[in-house]
This record gives sequence, structure tokens and C-alpha cells, in this order.
Amino acid sequence: MAPVERAIRARFETRQRINGSAGPIFALLEGVGLSERVGGFLIDLDGTVIEAGALIPGAAEALRVLIQKEIPFRIVTNTTSKPRSAILAKLRALGIELRPEQLITAPIIGRDYLLGEGITRCFPLLRASLLEDLGTIEFVESSPQAVLVGDIGDDLTYAALNRAFRFLLDGAAFITLARNRYFRGMDGLCLDVGSFVAALEYATQREAVLIGKPARAFFLAACQSMGVPSEATVVIGDDLEADVGGGKAAGCMGVLVRTGKFQLAQIEKSEISPDAILDSLAGLPGLLGPRFPARPERSPNQKPGP
Ligand SMILES: [Mg+2]
Repeated sequence: MAPVERAIRARFETRQRINGSAGPIFALLEGVGLSERVGGFLIDLDGTVIEAGALIPGAAEALRVLIQKEIPFRIVTNTTSKPRSAILAKLRALGIELRPEQLITAPIIGRDYLLGEGITRCFPLLRASLLEDLGTIEFVESSPQAVLVGDIGDDLTYAALNRAFRFLLDGAAFITLARNRYFRGMDGLCLDVGSFVAALEYATQREAVLIGKPARAFFLAACQSMGVPSEATVVIGDDLEADVGGGKAAGCMGVLVRTGKFQLAQIEKSEISPDAILDSLAGLPGLLGPRFPARPERSPNQKPGP
């Protein structure tokens, strides 16, 4: 076990002894052992940057630090309820201006996977608005090459699930953009896509190919897109399995935030050890190390860099 992980465990166990539970000030190890290796960030969206449609306090400021210091980062999300353009517009309305390539979604990665497999005809358990992120992929109602699963919200019906079930029995490829168990909605925790994927897996005795987090290929593609090796990349998110566990399995560092769906009980029973735990994304600047010193002032006759 790495020293940082041991430190987290030790603090956790000490607080348990003292308080009977880990309490609200559990293991704040901002930057310990991480900062010297940090070259870039993959940052989860829901529960980490925004929650219930609003910015998490300090999140926008943390992202502005990255932008101002020109530190590579990507927002990485399994959101499949809306296309990338709609997510970018929502973030813009909240005061966060991102370039399209700075937002990596499961459908964007899924498009490349599907085309690489020669799949262009999919039966969707997915909203039609996602087509704009899927390039030349078509949604079809008969003879699909694949069943493609994502967030279909209240449009999910028994009839739709059953059609997917039958196509899978007939041999269609089984691909899901996400398999998150639950998310935090406006009125509490809500069943997420993974629950319905599990239903189809159970019935068909097949296993779906996962495109989004925590798939290793998703994190590696995100690292590659920002030009930072995985060992110098920090994944930050509120999901212990999908963000921290997935990131670490891809060779990244994994940092958990205590916002969104964070639940202390999940850490207690999990084998996944975050490299650090932050109260929120507002603590991100504390992870910056010697690779990112304060930018020197330019002299008046110095040309700006590239
Ligand atoms: Mg999240």
C-alpha cells in the first residue's frame, strides 16, 4: 500500500476511534504526495462541478485557475441525457466557457468505438438528441447491429427494454455508454443506466461492453486527448468506483470529492483507496505542484508565448 493510502487509512481509523465515525473532517490530504507528479486533470461533471443544475461552490474558480495557468484538463462525464453542445451551453450559462474538446462524453468516445467495430446501425435505449454526437451512426428499429444503451429517462418502457432484449437474443452487439448505479437528482438518489443494463445482462446472460467511466479505454482516450500520460493525470470525481477506481485502474491518480453522491459508508466497504479526498473541487489548486508555479510576469518588450 502506498504511503499516501496508508496515511488516509490511518487518519480514517483514528477518527473512527475518536468519534465512533469518520466524521465530517475525514482525511483532508490536499496534495500530499500528488503534487510533484501532477501534469493534468480529468474532472467529473455531475456531483463534482455541478449538482442539481447549479455550480458547486468554488468549482468554477478552480477551473479558472487551470485555464489561467494553461494546465491541461478535460471534463469527463458519463452523461448521456444530452449532447455535448447542450452541456457546453449549460456550462456557459453558469459562467464556465469550455472549448468542445475540453468536454469528453461517453457518446463521443462511443462513436469512435462503434465506427472502429464497423457498427453504424443501433437500436437505441437512448435519446434521439444524442445522434448529433454519434457521427454517421443511425438509430434503427429493425435489424440493428447493436443495442446501444444510455440515459433515456422517463421514456424507458417495458416495451423498449423488451425489444432490446430480443435484439440481443438475436445476436446484436450489446454496448452501453455508462453503467453507473445511481445519481443524485433534484429529489434525491435516482436509479442510473447501470441498473437497466444489469436487467438485460441478467436476462440474456451476456455482458455489455462499457464505453464510459470506469472503462480503462475511456480514461486512456481522455489522457491522450490532452497529451498527458496517465501516470501524470489526476482523476477527480464524486464516484468512488467510476471516477477514482476507474482512473486508478488506468494508471492515473484518483481524488475523491465529498460532494455529489459521496457517501462515507461506500469508502468503508470498498477496496478502492483514493490518493486524496477533497471537501470539494474548490481544493483543486492545493494539488498543483512544482510543474505549475505562479506564471512569471512578462517584461513589456517580451513576445507572448505560443
Ligand atoms: Mg459524478
